[in-house]
Amino acid sequence: MLSRNICNTSNRIRKFSNYVKIVEVGPRDGLQNEKKILPSSIKIELINRLSKSGLKTIEVTSFVSPKWIPQMQDNTTVFKNIYKEAGVSYPVLIPNLEGLKRALEVDVQEIAIFGAASESFSHKNINCSIDESINRFKEVIIEAQKHKLKVRGYISCIVGCPYEGNIKASAVAKIADKMLELGCYEISLGDTIGIGTPKKIITVLNEIKHLSIMGNLKEFAVHCHDTYGQALVNIYTSLEYGIRVFDSSVAGLGGCPYAAGASGNVATEDLLYLLKEQGFNTDINLNEIIKIGDWISSKLGRSNHSKVGVASIASKKLT
Ligand SMILES: [Zn+2]
Repeated sequence: MLSRNICNTSNRIRKFSNYVKIVEVGPRDGLQNEKKILPSSIKIELINRLSKSGLKTIEVTSFVSPKWIPQMQDNTTVFKNIYKEAGVSYPVLIPNLEGLKRALEVDVQEIAIFGAASESFSHKNINCSIDESINRFKEVIIEAQKHKLKVRGYISCIVGCPYEGNIKASAVAKIADKMLELGCYEISLGDTIGIGTPKKIITVLNEIKHLSIMGNLKEFAVHCHDTYGQALVNIYTSLEYGIRVFDSSVAGLGGCPYAAGASGNVATEDLLYLLKEQGFNTDINLNEIIKIGDWISSKLGRSNHSKVGVASIASKKLT
């Protein structure tokens, strides 16, 4: 039985906050799927610049095997050499105990573990079943807690998977429940291949809301990819539903190496513009993010996927 005190009575829902937290995942989710491998010095400069923009959480790298993700093989160098701004969290992605051991050597303070709501995606991405993945989380979380690390959980493929098609919302709720029970402070719900639409997102949020202790979904974040151009409508829908944490990548970097055709994360610039114009507070300097997005796109030799970024730079009129 669950040890958490779960209450789903709607009359206990707190007034939703006006503050929205953005988790910048460009240096990890973004760069890991770019064809061009950047030198560590550029990655370090990217993170240092993002640290000065007002972002409070920047996912730095992952400690997965370089055989799986060669783009992240300089994880130790990058983490050791970035400037750690006071009040900013620098989580890293951890697949197993071996990865955690290496992360602890460089004094990581926050980690993210990852699983999937799809059995086939779980096998392809992390080479084990969903149940086996939960056992792995358990050993990683127990060890992380001994070192007083914060643990965030990712669930991939919350509405659909490249191998199985549609995914049942109940499968998402099942793994989310396990992750919370094991001690994750926040669960990021990932539309990994970007096929979600507002109806599908609402179905998932309805299914998981009973897991939120206060019923206000504060334990959940939404992570959208823009493959079908639906990321911002899905985010807006989630905002209306009460979600106040979103993952995004500067310049819309990103994708997923195991999900063919998945395009980048929603661009941080575009998300910030929406939030600002809708009256939400983020404490992040949009103009700085626009400049960083333009700079990193040039370093990668790719186009900038942020519409707000491209328009602002082209008109020389920052917002
Ligand atoms: Zn992603």
